[in-house]
Parts: sequence; C-alpha cells; structure tokens
Amino acid sequence: MTKRTSPIIVGNWKTTPANLNQAIKFIKAIDKKYSSKKNKMPKKGFYLAVPEIFISEISKECVHGYVGSQNVSGVSIGQTTGTTIPSQLLSAGATFTLIGHSEVRAQGETADQRSHKVALSLQSKLLTILCVGEHKRDKEGKYLSELEEDVRKSLSLVSRNNFNNLIIAYEPVWAIGGDTPATTHECFEVVIAIRRALASLVGIDYAKKVHVLYGGTVTKENALSFIQEGGVDGLLIGRASQDVVSFMEIISSCYGA
Ligand code: PEP
Repeated sequence: MTKRTSPIIVGNWKTTPANLNQAIKFIKAIDKKYSSKKNKMPKKGFYLAVPEIFISEISKECVHGYVGSQNVSGVSIGQTTGTTIPSQLLSAGATFTLIGHSEVRAQGETADQRSHKVALSLQSKLLTILCVGEHKRDKEGKYLSELEEDVRKSLSLVSRNNFNNLIIAYEPVWAIGGDTPATTHECFEVVIAIRRALASLVGIDYAKKVHVLYGGTVTKENALSFIQEGGVDGLLIGRASQDVVSFMEIISSCYGA
C-alpha cells in the first residue's frame, strides 16, 4: 500500500444542516479554526460530502477543504429524471463523491447501478469513494468473502488506469450511527480482505494505489488509532463531522496539530 503523507479525513453531512446560511457559517468557522493551525497541516486537509444543492456555494467558500457529493448517477446524459451525473457535479465545484453508502444501499441501490456509478464517476475524473461494509459478522467469516465479492462487483466496469482515483471506505453497517465502533483489529482484517479483492481484479501494483478509509462511530478519542493501528489511510465520519468543534478536533488529532 502506498501511504499518503497526509491522512484523508472525509466528513459526511448527510441531510444537515437545515439551510445554506447554516452551511456557510459552518464552513467559515471551520476554515477559521483550520487557519489558526495551518502551519501544521496542508493547505487543504479535509473533504466534506455535502447535500448536492449546497455544492456550488460551499465550494466557493471552502478554503481549506474539498467539497463533494454523497451520491452520483451512473446514467448517461439525457432523459433520466431526478438524478445528477458526474459532469454536472464537477461543474458545480465538486471534486469527489461517495458511492454505495449503506444509507443509499438501503434505499434500493443495486450492485449493477453501483458498478455503473463507480465507472462513470472515475471516467469523469471525480475522486470516487466507494463504501462497503457488512451488516453483521458471522463466526465462519462469510462476511469477508461477501465483502470481497461486493468490491469486485462494484468495480467490475472500472479500467485499471482509473484505480489511482479510487478510495474504498470500510464502513461496517453495525458501527454506523451507534456507539460501538469496530476495533482496530477488526478494521485491519477487513482492510486485508479489501486489498485481496482489489489485487484479484487488477493485480497488486494497481491495487496498491487505492487508499482505504474506516467509517463508523469515529470520535476524537478513537480517530488516530484507526490510522495508526487499523491499517487505513483515513476516516469517513458522519455525526462528528456535523459539528465544527468535533470535526476540527478529529482533523487536528490526525495531523498531530
Ligand atoms: C456514516 O454514516 O458514514 C458514518 C460513519 O456515521 P457515524 O460516524 O455517525 O457513525
């Protein structure tokens, strides 16, 4: 695995905040806090997946982070109602997108739709964060082979050269939105399974280019342990990214700032 020099810290705002004014206030506040520590951190040190409707305004305001979307369409330009294609997100200022978040899967997203979304998003040069994770674990470890199969299916239409713009987020569904995160050991085991699936698709050299994140009840107390002991390159954070103080505390802890 090629370790990035900087951790990849991604927040997922989901359906928050309630309006654009609050979103802009959040961005201004986090940029201000970030600026006060900027000599210890890169110019841009976080990613925020925001409600699509906010992307164009927020991406103009956000000095120290990248702005992206929480989902994207895999259909081509034309006659499909109620969805947004990668080129439209890019032109609004998005630089990345999540795909396959468990809450999107729960709304009925199929593996076939996911594979088209991932392929189109990568072809369009959006940094693409594919989320995978088991609902529950079984003693026999079947969840690991199911997860590897999910990775292979979701990436089945992606060409090798696009693997360097792909990130995989391991998000065990049982750890999202609760109070019990995975242990770093549990995380590490799945990172190995994800890398095995990637290598079986494109070989080890291309597989190494993919960065892996952990998500599920990340807090300022546990954030760094996943990077130091869980084998991941960064974090995908839900609730704790929706509050300026807790998000900034996680960013600072990951940069040692
Ligand atoms: C998520 O929804 O992607 C997530 C990780 O949520 P939380 O951090 O709130 O568990």
